[in-house]
Amino acid sequence: MRIGIPRETRENETRVAATPETVKKYVAAGHEVLVEQSAGLAAHFSDQAYEQAGAKIVEAQQAFAAALILKVRAPSATELLNIARGSTLVGMLDPFDEAGLDAMAQAGVTAFALEAAPRTTRAQSLDVLSSQANLAGYKAVLLGAHYYGRMFPMMMTAAGTIKAARVVILGTGVAGLQAIATAKRLGAVVEASDVRPAAKEQVESLGAKFIDVPFETDEEREIAKGVGGYARPMPASWMERQAALVSERCKQADIVISTALIPGRPAPILISAETVRAMKPGSVIVDLAVERGGNCPLSQKGLVVYENGVALVGLTNLPGMLATDASALYARNVLDFLKLIIDKDANLAIARDDDIVSACLVCEGGKNLRKK
Ligand code: NAD
Repeated sequence: MRIGIPRETRENETRVAATPETVKKYVAAGHEVLVEQSAGLAAHFSDQAYEQAGAKIVEAQQAFAAALILKVRAPSATELLNIARGSTLVGMLDPFDEAGLDAMAQAGVTAFALEAAPRTTRAQSLDVLSSQANLAGYKAVLLGAHYYGRMFPMMMTAAGTIKAARVVILGTGVAGLQAIATAKRLGAVVEASDVRPAAKEQVESLGAKFIDVPFETDEEREIAKGVGGYARPMPASWMERQAALVSERCKQADIVISTALIPGRPAPILISAETVRAMKPGSVIVDLAVERGGNCPLSQKGLVVYENGVALVGLTNLPGMLATDASALYARNVLDFLKLIIDKDANLAIARDDDIVSACLVCEGGKNLRKK
C-alpha cells in the first residue's frame, strides 16, 4: 500500500508521524512510503535519512494522495482538500471536536483518532496520550525551573544554604506522575493532588506527599473512582474542600504544575485568581491544561503572563518542544496501531470487532461515527 507522511502545518507543530526507523519497517513490510519534503526537519530527521530508510521524498499533494495518510494532528481545511475520498487517515484527530470530525466525514475519509484508544494493557504500545503526556510532564517541570528565579535542589555552600524548591502537582495521570518524578530528580520537595483514590499510592511510591481531600459522602467516593480510569467531574462540595486545601498548598509552593483533565470537558478550575494573588512573588504556575481552558483562570493559551509577581506559563504543545523523542514515540505508536488495520499482504483490513480499532474509528462512509 502507498503510505503518505505529510509535513505538519499547524502552528507550533514540530512533530512528524513517521521516523526513518518506522519508515524502514513499512518498506520492509512491502509498502511504498511517500514522505513530504522537510516533513521531519523540525524533529531533526533529514530527507536523506528518510530516503536511506527506503522512502521517496515528494511534494505535499503526492503525500496526501496516498491510500493511507499518517498525521500527527487533524488535517486543516486546506489539507483536507488534498485528501482523496476513500483514503484512510490515522492521527491524533481530536475525537471530541465534532466540527472537525464532520469535516473529515464529509471529505469521505476513513479516519482513526488514536486518542480514542482504550487505556487497556493491550493498547499500551499504541497509547499516544501516554507517550506524549509523559514527555509533557517532564518538560513542564523544566519550564517551571526555567521561569523560577531560584534553585530546585537544596544546596549547602560556603556562601550559605539554599532551600529546596517546593513543588505542587495537581492531577497525577501520566503527565502528573512524570512531573513528580522529574521534580524529585531535580531535588524538589513534592506534594500532589488527584481525585482518584488509586492515585495516592502512585504518588507516594514516587516519594511525594499526597494532598488528601477526604470524602464526606458515598456519592463523592463513588464519583471519585471515575470511569475507565478517567476522572469525572466531582460534586461542588468536594471541589470546595479541595480548593481550600490546594490554595493553602499553593501559597507555600514555589512551582505549581497543573495537569488535571476530564475527558471531553473543560478542565476543572483548581487554582483561583485569589489563590494566585496570595502566592509568593517569583513562584511559577505551569498550566498544562491550558488548551482545555486551564486549571487556573488567569493562565493564557500560548503565553507566559505575570500576576502579582507569579509567572503563569500557558505554553502549548510541550511534547513538540521535544520533537525528536516525541516523534519517535508517536511514530512507534502509529506503527503498532497499523498492525491492527493492515494484513500480512500489506493491504488494508480493518478489524471492526477489535475493541481498539472500533474505539479509534471515528469517520467512515461519509459518516461521523461519534455523532449521537
Ligand atoms: P488525564 O490527562 O485525563 O487527567 C489528568 C489527571 O487529572 C487524572 O489523573 C485525573 O484523575 C486528574 N483530575 C481530574 N480532575 C481533577 C481534580 N478536580 N483534582 C485533581 N485531579 C484531577 O489523565 P491520563 O494521564 O490520561 O490518565 C487517565 C487514567 O488512565 C489514569 O487512571 C491512568 O492511570 C490511566 N492510564 C491507563 C493506561 C493503561 O492501562 N494502558 C495508560 C495510561 C493511563
